[in-house]
Amino acid sequence: MNAPITPDPVLLDRARGCAVGAAIGDALGMPLEARPPRPLDNLLREMVRGRLPAGSFTDDTEMALALAESLLAHRPLDPADLARRFIAWADTGPDDIGVHTSRVLWRLRRGDPWDVAAEAVQEMNRDSAANGSLMRCWPVALVYWSEPEALRRDSVLQSRVTHVHIDCLAACVFANTLIAALLRGATPAEAFNEALATVPLPDDLRDTIELAASRRREQLRNSGWVHHTLESALWGLLTTDSFEEALVQVVNLGHDADSAGAVVGALAGAAYGLASIPERWRTALRGAWPPRSRTIWTADDFVALADRLVGA
Ligand SMILES: [Mg+2]
Repeated sequence: MNAPITPDPVLLDRARGCAVGAAIGDALGMPLEARPPRPLDNLLREMVRGRLPAGSFTDDTEMALALAESLLAHRPLDPADLARRFIAWADTGPDDIGVHTSRVLWRLRRGDPWDVAAEAVQEMNRDSAANGSLMRCWPVALVYWSEPEALRRDSVLQSRVTHVHIDCLAACVFANTLIAALLRGATPAEAFNEALATVPLPDDLRDTIELAASRRREQLRNSGWVHHTLESALWGLLTTDSFEEALVQVVNLGHDADSAGAVVGALAGAAYGLASIPERWRTALRGAWPPRSRTIWTADDFVALADRLVGA
């Protein structure tokens, strides 16, 4: 096994961009969630109030923070520990929680082991493949940016705690492989090609991924299906050339805007770095962590978290 390599300043800026970017994409998309796409001549470019105050991150980021803290405590990832942290999070009464995820957490809370609960919920709805594990998976890429085997293992494991569908597992491995390549200095196109060449994918998910950059805006559904979220995020990353434009284009697709925003925010933040993130968005970002506590997380806290995850 290769020893982890010490991160250089450029990699550190990209890792910070990934963490801050994911939370910002979530917060920017929050007021657009469950709405139709915004017209092209009236795109939202500012943090505004939705069901939460302007700049607030949501469950996407909260679950990522639970995963990040689990990884800081246990490597390899301990799925039982992650399940306990998800239950503790759900017990705070968060403002939002996915339907599939809440069904799994209900079973975990009543005592189902971590590797039973999600399987049982999947059994009730074989084809369900929601984006709940994709939207939170980026901390794994920050920990294992130089260790592809470990990255694959824990990307899958963190998904299996709530989302066991093969498309969910593969989407998490794909996104994190892409993020790790970006952190190591690849361009978005290079990182995309590297992930496509190295990550095993079910055929229909491979089609979704390969076609994403050629989609027209009107074709993108941006629903809570993992295919649609990954498709939107890849479209945003590959058809724009800045952090700001990637996020603006994706969150304005509406529907599951905050989750697609979180995924494209992680990708574009890893591609362009913290320095590329607009100051007005960075200063607006906020949220209580743990939920309902008095501890308010700002962009600086995500920077510090990114440094710990990459081992700086
Ligand atoms: Mg959300």
